[in-house]
Amino acid sequence: MTTTRFAPSPTGYLHVGNLRTALFNFLIARQSGGQFILRLDDTDPERSKPEYTDAIQRDLEWLGLDWDRIETQSSRLDRYMAAADDLRNKERFYEAFETLTELDLKRKKQLNMGKPPVYDRAALDLSEVEKDALRVDRSGHWRFKLDHERIEWHDGILGDISIDAASVSDPVLIRGDGQVLYTLASVVDDTEMGITHVVRGSDHVTNTATQIQIIEALGGTVPTFAHHSLLTGPQGEALSKRLGTLALKDLRERGVEPLALLSHMARLGSSDPVELRSSMQELIDGFDLSRSGSAPTKFDEEDLFPLTAKYLHAQPVQAVKGDLDALNIPADKQDAFWTVARENITTRHDIAAWWRLCQDGADPVIDAEDTDFVATALTLLPAQPFDDQSWSTWTAAVKEKTGRKGRALFMPLRKALTGMDHGPDMSTLMPLLQVIKTKP
Ligand code: GLU
Repeated sequence: MTTTRFAPSPTGYLHVGNLRTALFNFLIARQSGGQFILRLDDTDPERSKPEYTDAIQRDLEWLGLDWDRIETQSSRLDRYMAAADDLRNKERFYEAFETLTELDLKRKKQLNMGKPPVYDRAALDLSEVEKDALRVDRSGHWRFKLDHERIEWHDGILGDISIDAASVSDPVLIRGDGQVLYTLASVVDDTEMGITHVVRGSDHVTNTATQIQIIEALGGTVPTFAHHSLLTGPQGEALSKRLGTLALKDLRERGVEPLALLSHMARLGSSDPVELRSSMQELIDGFDLSRSGSAPTKFDEEDLFPLTAKYLHAQPVQAVKGDLDALNIPADKQDAFWTVARENITTRHDIAAWWRLCQDGADPVIDAEDTDFVATALTLLPAQPFDDQSWSTWTAAVKEKTGRKGRALFMPLRKALTGMDHGPDMSTLMPLLQVIKTKP
C-alpha cells in the first residue's frame, strides 16, 4: 500500500510551490487507495507558529486535499533522540565543535584552493581531552558520518541518480543547542510511519542522498523518491522571492477556484496538456507522476483565472447557492440569474456586481449623439416586469420609430440599460432587470 506524506514546516503560509508537493503526494496515495499523512515539521520552536499550522490545514481543506492522519515532529523528539543514540552506538555519529564562522572560513579556503567546500572531518581527530576543553565554552553539534561511496536511486521523475557521498559534507543532525534538524527527524518519521513514496522539490536531491544512508544505517526501508522541478515565474525568473505573494490564501481571496488551481498544478510542467477537471476523482484518475518533467516549470498566476471562469461557467445553480443566498437573491430568481451571470464572470467575486445591476439598475451611459435616440427609446420601454420577449418587442418598436438598425440600434440601448458595452444576451438579462435608471 502506498503511504505518502506532505511535510510543511509551519513557519509560513503555503504557496503554489508547496502545493505541487502536497498535490502530487495526495494524488499518488489516493490513486492506490493508500494513506496520505499531513506531517508538520515543527522542530524549530522559534519559527514554528500555531497560526501557520492552522492556516496550512485551512488551505488543504479548501482544496479538498484531505489527510488520513496528522503528525507533529515536536511530539516525537524522543524518537529522534533514540535514533541519534542508535547512530552513536553504530559509530556513525560524531560531535563537532566548529562555529559557523570557522566553518565559513574553511569553506572559503577550500574554494580558493579550487576544492569542493566539503566538511573536512577535523572533529574526528579530536581527542577526548581536546573535546572536553572545547566543551567548556561551546556545545558540540552532531554530524552523521557518511560512507564515502556512490549513493544511487531511481528517481520517479528524474530517473537514475548517482551522487558521490564524498562530495557532500557529513550532515549536521543535531545542533549545538540540542535542536534536532529536519534531515534526521524526517528520516525517522519516514521510516517509522511506513512512508513508501516521497515526492518533494528538486532542492532536496542532495538531502535524499544523505537520507538514504541514514535510513540504511538505522536499518529502515528506503522509500521510493521523486523530485519535481521547481517553479519559476513566467519569464523563467526565480520564484523564490515572490512565493510570499503567491500564498494559497491570497489566491483563494482573489477568487481562484480549488479545482481550477489543482487541475493547473497537476499538469503544469508535465508532458500532458492542462485540462480542467470537474471533480477530485477525475483529477486522481488523470494523474501520472512519471509524466512530470525535470526542467524548471513556468508558473503564471494569471493562467488560473481563465480556468476559474471555465469552471464557474460549467457550474449548476446548486453549486453557488451559498453565494446567491448571501446576496439575498430570491430563490425563484436564482436559476435565471445564474444562467445569465455565470457566462459573464471570472470569479465568484464578480457575481455581486451582476446582481446589483439587476436589483438597482445601472447608471446609464449615453453618448452625446445618442441622447435624443435613447430618450425616445425609453418612452417605448414595455411595462415591467419584463419577460424574455421584452427586448425584442422593445427594439422592434424603437427600430420602427427611429429607423435605426444593427449596432447603432442595439448598442446605445444596452449601454443605457446596463452602463456597459458588453455583457449577457439582452433578452435573457432583461427579465432580471428590476430597475431602469433613466438618469445617471
Ligand atoms: N519540511 C521539509 C520542507 O518543507 C520537508 C521536505 C520533505 O518533504 O522531506 O522542505
